[in-house]
Amino acid sequence: MTRSQIDIAIFGGTFDPVHTGHLAMAAAVSERLDVDICFVPLNSAPHKGCLGATASERLAMLEIALADEPRCYVDDLEVMRGDVSYTIDTVTTLRAKLGSEARMYFVLGEDAYSGLTQWRLWQNILSQVHLVVCPRRPKVEVPPALLALEADFKVESVERLKAAPSGSIFFLDQQQIEVSSTEIRRKLLDDDDVSRLLKPEVLAFIKARKLYANAQ
Ligand code: ATP
Repeated sequence: MTRSQIDIAIFGGTFDPVHTGHLAMAAAVSERLDVDICFVPLNSAPHKGCLGATASERLAMLEIALADEPRCYVDDLEVMRGDVSYTIDTVTTLRAKLGSEARMYFVLGEDAYSGLTQWRLWQNILSQVHLVVCPRRPKVEVPPALLALEADFKVESVERLKAAPSGSIFFLDQQQIEVSSTEIRRKLLDDDDVSRLLKPEVLAFIKARKLYANAQ
């Protein structure tokens, strides 16, 4: 399938499993910025311990969840790279592939954003992409270094954001979706109903594979 080479929104995450919160975020970003969304599941995370599902199972659940989402697709580059996944490596690779003119956005929730200063070479990320931040509770304190970054690089409009290929921070005023993969894994372990939190096809995959039966 032909993908836009001009604008791309990269949505990194564990997706263990992918849920309605991720899908609502992707839909909101896609609509607001008029971009395709490239989901990039990490291989292993510096900040997360052992994951509940394998990389190939998390990829499979994403493929299932996105099958009827025409503006969303999956890229397995972090899984194929192996080892610990760092966003700076991923956005640098995609920038080299798409060229300096492409507008590139990295999508993340407020919880992930508040920890940005812990990321590898975090100061370099804005030279490759814009950051698009989606609301997520609970509100966490934003460290001073990030407030300073916002003072220099935050933009208030999509027009300003789209004026350059990278370098700005944009907060999307999207409605909050209260769901997390942790909550889903916990509910599955307790045999609670998760049908509102996942696509039915993803839930069927989880049940068939007996995933998260020993999840935390
Ligand atoms: P876990 O509960 O295992 O930590 P998660 O639900 O946070 O998982 P991830 O795959 O780790 O899901 O998240 C990928 C990205 O999506 C992160 O930037 C995270 O902030 C964001 N995100 C996930 N769920 C939501 C949500 N409900 N609202 C806003 N952002 C979200």
